[in-house]
Amino acid sequence: MSKENKKATCDVCGMIINIDNSGNGECNNCGWRQSEESFQHPFVAGIRNIPCLSNAIKQFKRGKSALLANFDDFVNAYKNYGEVEFTLNQTRYGVMFADKEKKIALQNIQNGETQFYNNIDDFIQNAKLNGFLLSDIWENVTNTDFLQET
Ligand SMILES: [Zn+2]
Repeated sequence: MSKENKKATCDVCGMIINIDNSGNGECNNCGWRQSEESFQHPFVAGIRNIPCLSNAIKQFKRGKSALLANFDDFVNAYKNYGEVEFTLNQTRYGVMFADKEKKIALQNIQNGETQFYNNIDDFIQNAKLNGFLLSDIWENVTNTDFLQET
């Protein structure tokens, strides 16, 4: 890890932040994990943050967390990165590829309950929680992140 020794402005909120020699840093104001790569690819989700830079800026301007991804960015971050999670009704859910089943797993991290989907399109169209399509209730999601240690 190189030392954080340079200053830059946060790409999302404009605050002054510390960055390392490779351009990576973290904003104390909005939480954005800054990187050259996301700056170069503002429409790509899953680069150090789940939302793409463009949508993080939109979210922040709306007064929401810059780290909260919309459903499309969440799905794209899954495609690009592979293991992601979200929080809905205070419950954390992981989305990951299940090697044994060769399917996409949607797992309730708290109780381990897991549903399987054949592929990403199946997940997008059919993933349901509590009887509701995930895509329909996504506005109630309060956190999105890369899958954290449980
Ligand atoms: Zn910021």
